[in-house]
Amino acid sequence: MEIEGLHKYELRPLPYSMDALEPYISKDIVDVHYNGHHKGYVNTANTLMDRLNGIIKGDVTSYDLHGVLRAITFNINGAKLHEAYWNNMAPSGKGGGTPGGKLADLINKQYGSFDRFKKLFTEAANSNPGTGWALLVYDRENSNLQILTIENHFMNHIAEMPTILILDEFEHAYYLQYKNKRADYVANWWNLVNWDDAEKRLEKEL
Ligand code: MN
Repeated sequence: MEIEGLHKYELRPLPYSMDALEPYISKDIVDVHYNGHHKGYVNTANTLMDRLNGIIKGDVTSYDLHGVLRAITFNINGAKLHEAYWNNMAPSGKGGGTPGGKLADLINKQYGSFDRFKKLFTEAANSNPGTGWALLVYDRENSNLQILTIENHFMNHIAEMPTILILDEFEHAYYLQYKNKRADYVANWWNLVNWDDAEKRLEKEL
């Protein structure tokens, strides 16, 4: 039986050089994070999609479908969240500052000011217990922004709530440089935010 339609995932190139985020995120971290972790999620997602294809075709008859689907979810999300994370940062000196455009308007409307939004997003990021992500998403139903924390790689595919801003809080994202000082990594990450990318993500939804 021929089955079509299962995608193969790609490791897309970084939008800047490995050392472009220094001094806020070291070259070593970007190297291990991209060539180790991110590539691993992409490759594992593809291996698991082959396995799922085998299950669909009937070639694989002994399997734990829940386990396979859970692993697929983890790895596809890993691949997609990391692509968003890289593109949501800009090289040192070119990122940071404050947003403009419609994103600034929405932030001001909902949070009163950028500084209050930044404080709340930082608090949310720092409240995440261990491995996970902090996100700003757009809720199409309410035409509102929402700050979310995600544990592990799960629960990010909330329907109709696409990502605007994204921060990786896995230890591999900061430990080589910041050790247990995750809050310092979070504080420095603000210097790298690519607000043009965030604005483009929002404008796609408006
Ligand atoms: Mn990561």
